[in-house]
Amino acid sequence: MGFVVGLGYTNPFLSPFEEFRRYKTHPEIRKFLEGGKRVSYGARAIAAGGLMSLPKLVFPGGALIGCEAGFLNASRIKGSHAAISSGMMAAEAAFNALQSGRQRDALTEYPKAFEKSWLKEELHRARNFKLWMSKGILAGTVMVGIEQKLLGGRVPWTLHHRHSDNETLKPATGCKPIVYPKPDGKLTFDRLSSVFLSNTNHEENQPAHLTLKDPAVPLNVNLAKYAGAEARFCPAGVYEFAIKSDGSGGLVINAQNCVHCKTCDIKDPTQNIVWVAPEGGVDQTIRICRRFF
Ligand SMILES: Cc1cc2nc3c(=O)[nH]c(=O)nc-3n(C[C@H](O)[C@H](O)[C@H](O)COP(=O)(O)OP(=O)(O)OC[C@H]3O[C@@H](n4cnc5c(N)ncnc54)[C@H](O)[C@@H]3O)c2cc1C
Ligand code: SF4
Repeated sequence: MGFVVGLGYTNPFLSPFEEFRRYKTHPEIRKFLEGGKRVSYGARAIAAGGLMSLPKLVFPGGALIGCEAGFLNASRIKGSHAAISSGMMAAEAAFNALQSGRQRDALTEYPKAFEKSWLKEELHRARNFKLWMSKGILAGTVMVGIEQKLLGGRVPWTLHHRHSDNETLKPATGCKPIVYPKPDGKLTFDRLSSVFLSNTNHEENQPAHLTLKDPAVPLNVNLAKYAGAEARFCPAGVYEFAIKSDGSGGLVINAQNCVHCKTCDIKDPTQNIVWVAPEGGVDQTIRICRRFF
């Protein structure tokens, strides 16, 4: 089963992993899960900004397609069709470039094709979804209902993103701590045993793919002001504040646990965490595929 938490949340005590755990214990959800077996675990950030957040799609030698570009239709949580369609448009542009002997320029035909595509039309109709939902579940549901169900997405207004998700956390002092129930080991589980089932693997001698711009910031700002939000928003328990009774210690980064969801890159309030693709990406993908097929 899957569960989505909007990363524009404001309370630094919120833990997406534990919200998921709590969701599983709701009587209407629990009844489907009881007696089942946990077989796998994963997490990823959904690029939900849609049409209003699309980056430049092409650069010399490359193109952004699918969710990498942000083509997901967040109002339907559907993006496979968009990934396939954008991949086809990029492939056709690449084919034409090769046919005409062009090898190093940007595939400008791809964004042009997107502008005329049904995908652009679909994303245009859904363009305000995320922005309405960020105004609260009630306002969002009413306005998205009016826009999408009543008017078929054909509305004259367009909302605009005013802030990034890393800017929404409020200082911990003004927020209510959230106490989550402990896992029972049957229906709900802890993070580390879940990570074990994620099939991710990092070679022990590879350089850390998670580093800090300033090692003092986690303690001086993130812990002091936001109660160490990274210890909660990471769904893999990568960030741990190990503070001794004498006040020494600091943030420990268990990079080998990372499931590459990229939440820390998005939500870190100080944007101090530097996330880069780990080594062995293709190797990892092959290993995961071998395990399943
Ligand atoms: C919970 C959830 C439910 C969803 N439900 C639906 C649904 O019902 N219908 C629907 O259409 N869409 C759904 N989506 C969206 C859909 O999954 C995505 O839009 C779609 O998978 C995007 O395809 P993609 O190829 O662009 O990216 P992905 O499917 O994310 O593929 C990217 C691939 O690149 C690999 N990769 C990443 N980094 C590296 C690296 N460094 N080296 C090598 N490989 C790397 C990843 O392992 C991954 O396999 C859902 C998404 C989520 C999170
Ligand atoms: S370290 Fe960052 S990318 Fe890795 S699992 Fe945690 S939040 Fe996701």
